Amino acid sequence: MKTKSPSERADRRKPALIGHNAVNQLPHKSYAFSNGHNPHIPADYWFQSPPEGLTLFVVLYTRACRWARCLGCNLPSKVSQSPVHYSQQMKQIDFIFDFLLSPEQKQDLRKIILSNNGSVLDQETLSTMALIYFVAKMNMNCPHVSVLCLETRAEYVDLTELEVLSRALSEADVPADLELAIGFEAFDETIRNDYFHKGLSLHTFEELARKIAEYSFRLKVYFMLKPVPQITEQEAIEDVQKGIRYLDSIARQYKLAINLHLNPTFVAAGTPLEQAFQQGRYQPPLLESVRQAVLSAQGTTLSVFIGLNDEGLAAPGSSFIRPGDEKLLARLNEFNSTQNYALLK
Ligand code: SF4
Repeated sequence: MKTKSPSERADRRKPALIGHNAVNQLPHKSYAFSNGHNPHIPADYWFQSPPEGLTLFVVLYTRACRWARCLGCNLPSKVSQSPVHYSQQMKQIDFIFDFLLSPEQKQDLRKIILSNNGSVLDQETLSTMALIYFVAKMNMNCPHVSVLCLETRAEYVDLTELEVLSRALSEADVPADLELAIGFEAFDETIRNDYFHKGLSLHTFEELARKIAEYSFRLKVYFMLKPVPQITEQEAIEDVQKGIRYLDSIARQYKLAINLHLNPTFVAAGTPLEQAFQQGRYQPPLLESVRQAVLSAQGTTLSVFIGLNDEGLAAPGSSFIRPGDEKLLARLNEFNSTQNYALLK
């Protein structure tokens, strides 16, 4: 593997995008940050039940995402506007393994998704030392975790760092795989970059896929159903279907394990999507559209997880779950744990 020079690495670490997460640079966002949160406690956590088994999704409380411009995103509102010291980040990690998880959960856990509502591989938000500390505590406390998933933007992926983390994961009694979780959001370039402001090119994504395949790391890719007001319900379904075909081709080309994580869009408070919703220009997608979109992944190499949790970030009255959706919701939840496509027919 070619090693990057220090200047190359420093260059890659530059806030490629915007230097600060100040919302006042982005007048279209009006949410506030959670600056009063106790920095010794994670911002949030919950459990999921994918086929891999019990999964902890934990959001560390750090400085917010430095991109902060994706149209319908208010994830930074759950974290801090200013840096959180690495020692405080490590206290949060102690909290997870010393208080949050019960002895039974530590034994039962099969996967951990580590997030900071931005990029855990951006060392300006989550310190590298804290990340390594997390792996050490996980290895010592959760002997059956087989996958550690790291949420990040693609530009912060440093293969040298990942190689070290992967080596540390392999030293556990049960070696764990490393998975990267990348927000792709929409397949169509105009929707993704012009309307949603994701700032992700196909070239960047494919380079990442090619590189991590060499290390046998896994990939989790976030897509959103109907992420912007400019498209119809049918166009939203078709965009996800195109995304599924594309990801399947990438998975086959690079022999890469890809999990599609499809989030039906909720209206995040304090974003332009909320304004569009209030002005009657946007309605969240129907759960029925989620069913149709996911069905097209049958027969592909992809595993699929449907995000049915708005993480408490939705504007009032803007959920994609409506009265009468209960039975379909139960089937989608069961699909998440079984990958049984018969539930979607
Ligand atoms: S979607 Fe992710 S990258 Fe985009 S602003 Fe939100 S946290 Fe940052």
